[in-house]
Amino acid sequence: MNKSILLCCLLVTAFVFGQNTYLHCGKLIDTKEGKVLTNKTIIVSGTKIMAIEDGFSKPKSDKDILIDLKNKTVMPGLIDMHVHIESETNPGAYLEKYTLNDADIAFNAQHFAEVTLMSGFTTVRDLGGSGVNVALRNAINAGKVDGPRIFTAEKALATTGGHADPSNGSKDDLVGDPGPKEGVVNGVDDAKKAVRQRYKNGADWIKITATGGVLSVAKSGQNPQFTLEEIKAICETAKDYGFYVAAHAHGDEGMQRAILGGVKTIEHGTLMSEQTMELMKKHDVYLVPTITAGKSVSEKAKIPNYYPEVIVGKALDIGPKIQDMFGRAYKSGVGIAFGTDAAVFAHGENAKEFGYMVEAGMPAIKAIQSATVTNAMLLKMEAQIGQLKGGFLADIVATNDDPTSNIDTMTNVVFVMKEGKIYKQ
Ligand SMILES: [Zn+2]
Repeated sequence: MNKSILLCCLLVTAFVFGQNTYLHCGKLIDTKEGKVLTNKTIIVSGTKIMAIEDGFSKPKSDKDILIDLKNKTVMPGLIDMHVHIESETNPGAYLEKYTLNDADIAFNAQHFAEVTLMSGFTTVRDLGGSGVNVALRNAINAGKVDGPRIFTAEKALATTGGHADPSNGSKDDLVGDPGPKEGVVNGVDDAKKAVRQRYKNGADWIKITATGGVLSVAKSGQNPQFTLEEIKAICETAKDYGFYVAAHAHGDEGMQRAILGGVKTIEHGTLMSEQTMELMKKHDVYLVPTITAGKSVSEKAKIPNYYPEVIVGKALDIGPKIQDMFGRAYKSGVGIAFGTDAAVFAHGENAKEFGYMVEAGMPAIKAIQSATVTNAMLLKMEAQIGQLKGGFLADIVATNDDPTSNIDTMTNVVFVMKEGKIYKQ
């Protein structure tokens, strides 16, 4: 029996004998075409969408479950391309590397994962933590704990003293000399080893910190921190292992090196010049804007002693510039991949980003597409998630209002299904 006939038989069997879930959807967002459809029925069998029918179809057996979403707007589960699932901002965050054990991090991370899922994000890309993120991904995939599907960079790669050097800001006897095993790279050989180590540790993506960052205990938030040769070595090695590379970048020079070196996404992009926008388009590199994080750091920097002193100036300078840059990048045709940097602000508030994107000039439907079809493609999951379609995984969420006329409704997701299982109703 060939594969497609077998699949067909399985689906028919499930349809006739299994318990199916029927979702009556008043409005349904077709993320592929960018259209809002009306009066549809989604039929879910097991972990997958079996079919989508016109009108409100009656369940075929009394074992089937009917869910009434006739006065809701239904869309595919949302995808956030930039979170740090292990941690969350608080005034004591800078001490946590001395106070938290991996077990503490794991329990925190599980809580943040649950909060994220309940807010409608059924898939996230985690761009760096301690390595607990890999164990959490595995536990979620095995159905042991609740959370979004995670694609993780495990530990972000930095250069000595760079953004994500884990020893920044520590006193001498605690500093040590972290190397590629810990994610700190100096030179081409280190770069290759650091990527191979991530492969060994179970990462799905590679993250580099191409420029300084706002929240690291260091002077510059925007200087270039890798050479072009180091970035090329990282991207070429990453390719051998099937990884794409994401680059954190605020400054323009570091961004250009990252694009020329071969990365797939630029995170933040704060000081992006028009020339760099052209480079992004030419090399098919996507911008992950994280406007919410920018706004959040500039607000928190005004609270006395919330951040260490060296961070306050950077946060006030860089934070507020992201939204304006995003508006210009979108208008110039740069590809946009929805991502927020949740952890820099509270997990579960990821959907605030939609409102900020629309405020900057992106139509609501395009913002929703950036969080579904675009991100699914970047995660190489375009045949499984990001659309409501027969054969796709049943990741389905719903809002009270139609977000194309009221984008703020995205911050109040009232129904969450992931792989056919209902988490919120
Ligand atoms: Zn980040």
